[in-house]
Amino acid sequence: MKLLEERILADGRVLGENILKVDSFLTHQVDYQLMKAIGQVFATAYAECGITKVVTIEASGICPALYTAEALGVPMIFAKKHKNITMTEGILTADVYSFTKQVTSTVSIAGRLLSAEDKVLIIDDFLANGQAAKGLVDIISQAQASIAGVGIVIEKSFQTGRQVLEDLGVQVTSLARIERFEDGQVVFGPADA
Ligand code: 5GP
Repeated sequence: MKLLEERILADGRVLGENILKVDSFLTHQVDYQLMKAIGQVFATAYAECGITKVVTIEASGICPALYTAEALGVPMIFAKKHKNITMTEGILTADVYSFTKQVTSTVSIAGRLLSAEDKVLIIDDFLANGQAAKGLVDIISQAQASIAGVGIVIEKSFQTGRQVLEDLGVQVTSLARIERFEDGQVVFGPADA
């Protein structure tokens, strides 16, 4: 997605070996016009798949997921990282190791929100080693819902995430694919949409 790549080049900052900071338009401050355009690209890519729910994980997946859900005309569910007292029964959970926080947390979705009739599109902001998306695949499978694919805003294709998901039989659609960081600059490979 050309608009997204241009924005990454203009406003993204490479931190260390393998982190891209995009907190001026995606992960902290959010550009809703860009999110809306992202949502439309994902919705077009999965238009023929009969999607009934968009699922993501809090917090940074929520904005692209919500605009994707709007474009598809279906609800968006975000997996929660902390249980609260209103989540009393039928909770589906998975343990997810966070690449950026370097801790494992249990993420959960209320079981009654997903059923065997659902066809789910997973959306997330980044794909690194695939652990966040894998946890969502696990939860959705527990609900016996089917998975149409995983839509990723920014994939770092030098990490293992795509392979992890493809090994689970899940299709990945990334709007920007970073091949490598070179002298603090982002180098893109061909994106999926
Ligand atoms: P994974 O589970 O694929 O290893 O990592 C994906 C999650 O880690 C994303 O949901 C995102 O929150 C975070 N993440 C991974 N890599 C980056 C990065 O380079 N920059 C930012 N801002 N977040 C990242």
